Amino acid sequence: MLNIILLGPPGAGKGKQAARLQAERGMIQLSTGDMLREAVAAGTPVGRKAKAVMERGELVSDAIVSALIGERLDASADKGAIFDGCPRTKHQAAALEILLAQRGRRLDHVIELVVDEDELVRRIVGRFTCAKCGAPYHDHFRLPAVPGVCDVCGSTEFKRRPDDNEETVRTRMAEYRAKTAPILPYCEDKGLVRRVDGMASVDEVAGQIDAILDGKA
Ligand SMILES: [Zn+2]
Repeated sequence: MLNIILLGPPGAGKGKQAARLQAERGMIQLSTGDMLREAVAAGTPVGRKAKAVMERGELVSDAIVSALIGERLDASADKGAIFDGCPRTKHQAAALEILLAQRGRRLDHVIELVVDEDELVRRIVGRFTCAKCGAPYHDHFRLPAVPGVCDVCGSTEFKRRPDDNEETVRTRMAEYRAKTAPILPYCEDKGLVRRVDGMASVDEVAGQIDAILDGKA
């Protein structure tokens, strides 16, 4: 049973890989935000505690986050866990290791999807879709055969997501670097960090991750 932390900036395809690992390997994806919402909604013991803290307008403590992860692992018949968005500090990472050890588990890998920031910006900022049928296009990689006309439905209206602009993408990248900066060196010291080329195709990234999980890389 493998337990991993999956790291990658927005746009690196982390969500897709996590979904695939859940479907193919029976792993569960644990993200702090989702776990909090679920525990509060379900009214679990930790959820009730977290709710009271949040209602006082306070931040949920590391101890509560740890308890939440423990509660979730104990209630799950998973074949491994993918930690997404947690831990966020060295302290939380150490707490996670203890928590796993208490359950006969360990942190096996920290897999980071590494991206070329400029290229990622180019990929994200170039995206647009047909306003009518949603067909995906790209300024550099996939323009309609007839300029300005959707290949699929013939519509001449297209749209872009407001978030797909360079400033937003670079801000999110900076947030990602700031968030992972505290834990990467810690995990690195423990020899846990494995890097995967996040710019490769979805299938190639999947292959690289599988090779690590199967001990072949
Ligand atoms: Zn269309």
